[in-house]
Amino acid sequence: MDYADKIILLANLIKSSGKVLALTGAGISTESGIPDFRSKDWLWNKIDPDSTSLPALLRSPETFYKQNLPWWQQCIKAKPNTGHLALAALEKQGWLLGVITQNIDGLHQRAGTKRIWEIHGNLNDCSCINCKNTFPISQLYKSYVCCHCGGLIRPAVVLFEDTMPEAYFTAEKVLSGCQLLLVIGSSLQVYPAAALTDLAQSIVIINNEETPKDDQAVLVIREHAGKVLKDLLGHFTDQFGPYPVSM
Ligand code: NAD
Repeated sequence: MDYADKIILLANLIKSSGKVLALTGAGISTESGIPDFRSKDWLWNKIDPDSTSLPALLRSPETFYKQNLPWWQQCIKAKPNTGHLALAALEKQGWLLGVITQNIDGLHQRAGTKRIWEIHGNLNDCSCINCKNTFPISQLYKSYVCCHCGGLIRPAVVLFEDTMPEAYFTAEKVLSGCQLLLVIGSSLQVYPAAALTDLAQSIVIINNEETPKDDQAVLVIREHAGKVLKDLLGHFTDQFGPYPVSM
């Protein structure tokens, strides 16, 4: 099947499915200039995965923040791309119930997505692990030492070896009865996030490289997410979706 036929098939799958959700990963934001972790040549080659874990933060906050603050700053400054905007438009038109994201960059919200579950947290704020006082994320760029108690400040993102946040368990519930899950820009190698695909009746994978779950998908489109979602949106000009704009 050629690319154009795949887009038509995807549009028809969405139109004929009762409950459609998207699960996004770092790949949807690379076109906004934020590196992902697992594409060749990207962030993982420059950052040691072990150094982004909770134990690494506790062991050496200075090294941890030296590694992570620069790319978090990229996330904070980035602008949504056509992929984020197309998903927001599909939600607004009623075709997409919402977005479950592994991303911490906040770009879906900045694009206008209203129903969003950030299963790996976000960069909105940070808090002291000792006294639990919270601060805007800008505080971390001044000091990681709490001004109230001298404890260590950490961001509201999920680090390796953290427990999963409430949003993850809510996403599990939201996926109940999901007929079609659009899995966009994820290597599907990070668990438990990757296991969420098992909760949908069928999945479509939009990714520019192979993933371990390609053979479980009803459709695989190996292309840039921004192009695919923009082309897909061209097939939805009317607001006939099953979901009201505000729920
Ligand atoms: P990942 O880095 O493991 O995989 C990204 C996938 O997207 C790769 O398979 C890559 O080939 C693909 N990809 C890259 N650019 C693409 C494009 N333009 N179109 C289509 N596909 C593209 O990402 P992951 O599965 O989300 O797991 C990484 C973890 O790291 C996540 O849990 C996330 O929290 C975190 N992370 C977040 C950001 C962010 O918030 N933007 C960035 C890097 C990492």
